[in-house]
Amino acid sequence: MASVIELDDLDRAFHDTVSERLPQANFDLCLTCGTCAGGCPASAQFDMDPRKLVRMLAYGLDEEVKKTPWAWVCTMCARCYWSCPMKVDIPKLVYQMRQSWPRDKRPKGIRGSCDQHIRAGNAMGVPTEDFIWTVEDVAEEIRETDPRFKDMHVTVDRKGAKMAINQNSREPVTEPDELGPLWKILHIVEADWTYPSVMWAGENYCLFLADDEGWRYILEEFVQHIDNNLGCETVVNTE
Ligand code: SF4
Ligand code: SF4
Repeated sequence: MASVIELDDLDRAFHDTVSERLPQANFDLCLTCGTCAGGCPASAQFDMDPRKLVRMLAYGLDEEVKKTPWAWVCTMCARCYWSCPMKVDIPKLVYQMRQSWPRDKRPKGIRGSCDQHIRAGNAMGVPTEDFIWTVEDVAEEIRETDPRFKDMHVTVDRKGAKMAINQNSREPVTEPDELGPLWKILHIVEADWTYPSVMWAGENYCLFLADDEGWRYILEEFVQHIDNNLGCETVVNTE
């Protein structure tokens, strides 16, 4: 027979930490209505249920929650937050849960992608010269094979372009043809844009790893390159 948990004996360490750091993520306001669970894409994965998660944390069942992989099942899409009548900020709770894991115990795949992004400027580890070569090669092929786009410009690090646009680093490696559709749209609407060569990848796994320092480093490098070297007015994050 399962043993009874005495709620009064529980140590609400996570609850108290989050309440202090994120007063706006107040999970004491939860009405247990279940709206969050209804639209959650992670619901039922490893018995994950955002309502259950909030209840367990509110009661101080930290140890029980830590035994689950729920922190890593959540996609952080924030659908629950936007549908919650009490605006309980579950993605922020999940972010705090992830941060409570030692970095070397966080999922290897996400950690590797974050580390790679810090080292190489993108999660796939594509050298900058390879990225530029692929972009030029695919653009050339489009210009040569489709007369509607014979004048299409695709540039990297063009100073003074109005928009800097980033790019998921998977496409240049695994599906370079998938680069073309966005370029064609930008050409048709006569957008004035360029890719940056520094931190050009749109993904940021350090965010998903809950690595504040890595997340900040990637964004700062990206923004500084655009501000100091390119002078673009606008950044379009394609992720
Ligand atoms: S939608 Fe909000 S109030 Fe309703 S169960 Fe989920 S967290 Fe609680
Ligand atoms: S943020 Fe996480 S818990 Fe909320 S709906 Fe998305 S996957 Fe579910």
